[in-house]
Amino acid sequence: MADGQLPLDGMPRRLLQAAPSRLATYLDCPRRYRFSYLDSPSPPKGPPWGHNSLGAAVHTALANWWKLPLQERTVARSGALLDAAWLLDGYRDARQRDAAKARAREMVERYVADVDPRDEPIGVERTVALKTDHAALFGRVDRIDDRGSEGLVIVDYKTGRHVLSVDDARTSLALAVYAAGAERTLRKRCRRVELHHLPTGAVVAWEHTDEGLTRHLRRADSIAAEIAELDERYKSGVESAEADAMYPTNVSALCGWCDFNRSCVAGSAAVPPRHPWAGLDEP
Ligand code: SF4
Repeated sequence: MADGQLPLDGMPRRLLQAAPSRLATYLDCPRRYRFSYLDSPSPPKGPPWGHNSLGAAVHTALANWWKLPLQERTVARSGALLDAAWLLDGYRDARQRDAAKARAREMVERYVADVDPRDEPIGVERTVALKTDHAALFGRVDRIDDRGSEGLVIVDYKTGRHVLSVDDARTSLALAVYAAGAERTLRKRCRRVELHHLPTGAVVAWEHTDEGLTRHLRRADSIAAEIAELDERYKSGVESAEADAMYPTNVSALCGWCDFNRSCVAGSAAVPPRHPWAGLDEP
């Protein structure tokens, strides 16, 4: 159904406003989704994660580097920007924090050394958006390159330990939504998505076909439709047992990384919370 059409009952349908992370949270664990997006007040979260602090600082440094005038986009400036963006939360102690900072600075400097500062991106931390039948999807893209006849390219920086494969780029719902959203927002074809892994310097890329991108969007739409229906029922007021049944727990190894582990009886009983620094490379 195209934008502006009405569903069969003639009532305008309210679209679920969602970043891809909202859909992904629901797929990972419906209970975590409810804790994150619906419960008010939301249950208390665990402490901040060290790997999130590191990732946020690297992203901020790279974004700010591209915002500098061309002549100031040097390797040395990238290191200074990392220092300025550094966040202190989530580390075991000052020693671990300092070691992580040195690693992050090295990551940023090495990455920037391989970049041509004249390759002006068309977007840095740019918000893109599009609508499907049931969702108004949006997302903030780390970087969007305009590579001429190749079209727009989505660049997503990764700072985690996980070694990436082409499948990570191909199957990512978020990257597909960004590509479709960039095409709609910037009015230029966008099919290529790239994951830039800062710790190794590896770039994995995927070129979506029209059909592939459409499949991703259909999937996003169908998840959004399911969520929207559940959320509407939940907001109309349900007993706590019914709410728990509507948003069941999905206990897995991921519970150790869940912000709400301490508030989730099933999850914490099965998997204790990880240390805030457990996602860092260093012990
Ligand atoms: S601890 Fe596990 S089961 Fe509980 S909300 Fe988090 S992810 Fe879901």
